[in-house]
Formats: sequence, C-alpha cells, structure tokens
Amino acid sequence: MGCNIAIDGPAGAGKSTIAKRVAKELSFIYVDTGAMYRAVALYLLKKGIDGNDSRAIADNCQMAEVSIRYENGEQIVILNGENVNPYLRTEEVGNMASKSSANPAVRAHLLNLQRELAARNDVVMDGRDIGTTVLPDAQVKIYLTASVEARAKRRYDEYLAKGEKADLEEIKKDIEIRDHQDMTREISPLRQADDAVLVDSSLMNIDEVVAAILAIYKEKVK
Ligand code: C5P
Repeated sequence: MGCNIAIDGPAGAGKSTIAKRVAKELSFIYVDTGAMYRAVALYLLKKGIDGNDSRAIADNCQMAEVSIRYENGEQIVILNGENVNPYLRTEEVGNMASKSSANPAVRAHLLNLQRELAARNDVVMDGRDIGTTVLPDAQVKIYLTASVEARAKRRYDEYLAKGEKADLEEIKKDIEIRDHQDMTREISPLRQADDAVLVDSSLMNIDEVVAAILAIYKEKVK
C-alpha cells in the first residue's frame, strides 16, 4: 500500500484545492473521487435518466466506464474513452452526482478503481467516504469543513472568476440540499471518521489549511 491521505468533507469546503496543494508538496498523486461520481452523473444525465429512478441508475451506471490518467499533474477523467473534465463542474452535474452517488451500484462501480489507485501510489484522495469506507487504513485522515456561508461564497467566487453567472442564495440552497443528501444517505454517508482530524477552514486561507494538514501528516507519518 502506498502512503494514503484521506480528506473528506462537505461540498465547497475547499477539499480539491487543498488536496491538490498537499499532493504537490509531498509529490503524491491527487485523486478527486467527486469527479468520478460526477462522470457517472454526466453519463446518466446524457441518457436522460431521472435522478430519483434508482433502478435505472443501477442498470445504466454499469455502462459508464470511468478511468483516470494524469496530464501535467492534473487528473483527467475518462468516460467511455472521452476526456470529460470540461463538463464535470456544473451545478446540474453536481446535483445529479449527489443523488446518483447514494445508489449502492454506483458506489460499488467506483470503489475498486479508488482502492487500486491508493494501493499502487502515494495518494491524497478526497471525497465523502474515503476515511470511513474506501481507505479505512489510511495513515492520515482529515475531515475538512467550513460554515455553509463560507462554502457558498467560495463557490460563488469560483463561478465569477470563470466569468460565469451565479446566484449566491441559490448556491447556498444547493449546498444545504447536497449536505443533507450526503449526510443522511444509507450507504457511505458523509461523516467524520473516528480517527480523522477535524479542520474547520471557515476562517482560514488556503495556505493556512495546507500548512495545518502538512503538520498533521508530519506528526502521524514519521
Ligand atoms: O466533491 P464533489 O462536489 O465533486 O462531489 C460530487 C458529489 O459526489 C457529492 O455531492 C457526493 O454526493 C458525491 N461523492 C460521494 N463520495 C465521494 C465523492 C463524492 O458520494 N467519495
């Protein structure tokens, strides 16, 4: 097994930005599992599947072949042979991912890929259930969170920076719905693993969070 750092937390807590930076500092691979769930969601949306139709989701997700590769340190998600990175980070795909990821067939479909990557490489892997389910033996587990207000504002600023329109109240509502779905689902709900260290980034900047996580790593992995 490689050295594994698991970072879990709710939508918009800054997991991907932070995980990417930590991975770079340690020369580890960054694995964004949310992007894998988003790729499956994109496939289901393209097929016109209803997010509440669990039977159709279970049947159709099997046809969504997901793999990843790296280009200049960036994770590229391949869905049935196509690089789908440009289509993954929309609210529509995120909302569908939140629904379809509650489906046991979707989770089983992606679990092996995630575990294999962690077995073969030193990884920083982020998601919702990495410390609790995917990598229960990870050497370092972080639960990264922030207030709903802070998370909504960050997502809002991201959209504006990309030149896209955004509505702060709507994003906040989406985040609350997604938190609820992620935390109350039956299978692999989002929760802090017993042995995870809580980091609340509401009042911290990116550099501070990265430094905090590197310090936790150094303490645990000597
Ligand atoms: O982190 P991100 O917003 O990209 O994740 C999209 C959705 O995928 C989340 O709302 C969550 O429901 C789901 N997800 C999950 N388990 C993971 C990663 C993401 O259920 N390990």
